[in-house]
Amino acid sequence: MDLATDVDGVEQEVATGALPGWDQVERLVHAAHERCRAHDGGQVADYIPVLAEVDPGLFGVVVADSGGEVHAVGDADVEFSVQSISKAFVYALVCEAYGHQEVLERVGVNNTGLAFNSVMAVELNDGHPRNPMVNAGALATTALMPGATPAEQWENVRTGLSRFAGRQLELDGVVYRSEAETNMRNKAIARLLESYGRIRTDPLEVVDVYTRQCALRVSARDLAVMGATLADGGVNPVTGERVVSAQVCRDTLAVLASTGMYESSGEWLFEIGLPAKSGVSGGIVAVAPGKGAIGTFSPLLDPAGNSVRGQRATAYLSRALGLNLFASSVHVPERTEPSA
Ligand code: GLN
Repeated sequence: MDLATDVDGVEQEVATGALPGWDQVERLVHAAHERCRAHDGGQVADYIPVLAEVDPGLFGVVVADSGGEVHAVGDADVEFSVQSISKAFVYALVCEAYGHQEVLERVGVNNTGLAFNSVMAVELNDGHPRNPMVNAGALATTALMPGATPAEQWENVRTGLSRFAGRQLELDGVVYRSEAETNMRNKAIARLLESYGRIRTDPLEVVDVYTRQCALRVSARDLAVMGATLADGGVNPVTGERVVSAQVCRDTLAVLASTGMYESSGEWLFEIGLPAKSGVSGGIVAVAPGKGAIGTFSPLLDPAGNSVRGQRATAYLSRALGLNLFASSVHVPERTEPSA
């Protein structure tokens, strides 16, 4: 059903609300870090060999609000490779370049219910990638990045993500090479998509740009600002620069809500009620539209591949800051004196 055309020309009204005051947010970000730092369950990722060398004790929690205030606690400025979180922001850049309908048709917006590196998901859907937040859909999305050559596409990814972060992001060459030497599966997925006509340029070049995008270095602070840009109608609240349109933010956050946390996206939405994206190096960004975003970093992952401390800290902050999109309370009508 083509729901988009039914509302063509209808103005998008927005009603979101605001975060509590500065002091309270600051206190709650500290409390989130304090409550969650003792948890040491989970495993660091090791399928990209160099990721296994990270210090498992690292933990940073940051909230950036849509007014540009940033609250940071713990290892908020430690850099790590962005990994799958890049998918969300490259998706936004591609939506900005191609528009809602085109990206909907070419990449899709539905959860596959299968692992992020699943080949079977592609086969089951006749070669349609279906979900831009797993590797097949992300490769198809990266293939659409503007640029006449792979080098130009990579430069556009890097500058695009840097605009979201509000600072120049750099490639982690060690992580890039480690993944480039071991990513046969992503190469296989790209070839498979090529065979279905879903990638129309050199699939191995697409994998290379994608591997670089995953190896961009970010901190929890960067993630919070990047998320806050999606919460702020596409304007980076710290630099004041417009990065993407408000419609692109809405589209991207809808995709994150249904697919951003791998196979546990439904459970995440049920418990935490926010669009979010995680990556195997231990980052999570969660976005409260109109209000701001939470960026966390802690490399110990649960079996679904999501950071254990990051999920806990985000759950706490979503609840304590009143961010869950589905929460409401009973409306109490204002008492008005009957007019005489
Ligand atoms: N670079 C990783 C890959 O493509 C990203 C995966 C992830 O963060 N889930 O396999």
